[in-house]
Amino acid sequence: MSRIAHEMMRHEFADAAWQERHAVTRVDQLRAWVGGDADGNLMRDIELGLARAPMAMRITPYVLNLIDWSNFFQDPIRKQFIPIGSEILPSHPLLRMDSLHERESSPVDGLVHRYHDKALLLATDRCPVYCRFCTRSYGVGLDTQLVSKKRASPFQSRWNTILAYLRATPVIVDVVVSGGDCFRLKPSQLLAVGTGLLSIPSIRRIRFATKGLAVLPMKVTSDHEWTGALVNISDAGRNQGVEISFHTHFNHPREITDYTIAAAELLFKRGVRMRNQTVLMAGVNDDPEVMKQLVKKLSDLHIQPYYVYTCDLVGGIEHMRCSVGLACQIEKDLRGITAGYNTPLFVVDTPGGGGKRDVHSFEHYDRQTGIAVYRAPSVRPEQLFTYVDPLQSLSLDAQAAWSDPQRASRILSDAIEVARAKSMGFE
Ligand code: SF4
Repeated sequence: MSRIAHEMMRHEFADAAWQERHAVTRVDQLRAWVGGDADGNLMRDIELGLARAPMAMRITPYVLNLIDWSNFFQDPIRKQFIPIGSEILPSHPLLRMDSLHERESSPVDGLVHRYHDKALLLATDRCPVYCRFCTRSYGVGLDTQLVSKKRASPFQSRWNTILAYLRATPVIVDVVVSGGDCFRLKPSQLLAVGTGLLSIPSIRRIRFATKGLAVLPMKVTSDHEWTGALVNISDAGRNQGVEISFHTHFNHPREITDYTIAAAELLFKRGVRMRNQTVLMAGVNDDPEVMKQLVKKLSDLHIQPYYVYTCDLVGGIEHMRCSVGLACQIEKDLRGITAGYNTPLFVVDTPGGGGKRDVHSFEHYDRQTGIAVYRAPSVRPEQLFTYVDPLQSLSLDAQAAWSDPQRASRILSDAIEVARAKSMGFE
């Protein structure tokens, strides 16, 4: 290839619009990307994976380029975005669509109000990529063979209803804008959401949650209008005493490249506060050394490592979930490697709507049956919440017990009973 052609390709690759136009959403496009070396059996395996996945496929060329294709099955980037039928294990019997019960806590379409003073605004249902492990697999992305999505389209009329609720509910001082991903909002839409929220006097903090910096960092460096809109909101917030922050989603140190560094440096210099949320996944980052590298790299970019979540119960990713015991162990290995404020809190987002709990804070944890029970006194004081380890981390006997509805129900009721007794100080 001539030097000019190479330069043109490099220029295109660094352009977010080119990346979005060339995002791969179908297996035939993936086959074309791989070229002559595409393995027919592998492509059929991916088709099988997609048929059993609640998330549609969408991957930017940038992410495809991060995958080590010579180590496709084990690659930690591939695992996040491309399902393979042969690796999918049966789901845990407690898996439910919308495991966090977000829709039960939605007073208006696209707003989750569970915590007293905090709300989650689902600005859109689109993302630059679609992650297999997405908590919001009930609504984000295109329909799949398994799931007809509950849409949250980026419409001003929908946002107006949400803004009216927030204005009428001044107890809410903290709003997370997520979805979907603000990287898929147009600059005018980003401004409309940001300025709409800033016009509500009771709101003191606004967070934009995004995977974008990890999968499309060139958006920040090449889409000047979009970055300008984000910086304008950040500046306007600071001027009126409202904290605006950008919550990124890096899961592996290899997601941090020269493109990421350029984007993060630009945002830091322009005063955008950044924090990171990671999802703990087997084969991706369930290794203290990988986590340490990630935390160090993020800290150097002034992106504060904030949370590490255990993986939610989402269909088709049982093999990627980690046990509560492993999460506790990795947290212990990590604590002390750097400053405390750059050490992430490991949390379980409890199924059923208890919110995020420190992974160590269970009332009871039975490693044999793989069930942990949490209390959430500030959210639902009367209720106990359970999180379950992946079946493959349990003995064959425990796996058999979970597959028998009567024994499974007894495991649950026994665990709840022990947890109640412990929380009342009887054990
Ligand atoms: S970017 Fe976020 S909202 Fe979108 S699919 Fe991934 S995890 Fe879900």
